[in-house]
Amino acid sequence: MARTNLSSCKLCRREGAKLLLKGPRCLTSKCAFARRPFPPGVHGNGRPARPTDYGKQLREKQKAKRLYGLSETQFANYFASAVKMKGDSGVTLVRMLEMRLDNVLYRAGFAKSRAAARQMASHSQIQINGKKVNIPSYRLKVGDVLTVQDRKKAKSPWKNLAEELKSFVAPSWLNLDAANLTVKVTSQPAGDELKQIFEPKLIIEYYSR
Ligand code: ZN
Repeated sequence: MARTNLSSCKLCRREGAKLLLKGPRCLTSKCAFARRPFPPGVHGNGRPARPTDYGKQLREKQKAKRLYGLSETQFANYFASAVKMKGDSGVTLVRMLEMRLDNVLYRAGFAKSRAAARQMASHSQIQINGKKVNIPSYRLKVGDVLTVQDRKKAKSPWKNLAEELKSFVAPSWLNLDAANLTVKVTSQPAGDELKQIFEPKLIIEYYSR
């Protein structure tokens, strides 16, 4: 995970968005961005400096990088792979990020934050198509089936999770079987499900300077 000196909700202020790095905390008044909706170091009075094109592109890149908990190099690698592929590079970039194992665990409701999902993934409790996988960045494909190792399913916290997930609504590109703690990737995210708190187009511009 990318290291930072800023506490998680300071990052919300820095990026001007609720990043949910520690889970639902950002949805409460505890999130620093809710209390002081301007960047750290700015006093909130006076006119904010108008950001340059570069400044805007940089912020979008930083926002996305932090949201998925990636290092600069990891994030730049995603961009490099995305531009090599056919089609809209911004869409491809978002899809690659969304198809990460840790992100899918988060989207399917298995973990409350991407940071927690990353831990879950690296502790090798997850199987993909029946094989143990402990790489949070593992890129899932359409048709992949993700589940928890059988012998562990009966124990808590999995037992409780299965119960909680009964009321969880996963995005339509994931088919969640709560009782069996199984998720099938049925398609790639599309349409509204590609919408993010960052603007992929500006990220592509940032790296294309
Ligand atoms: Zn926050």
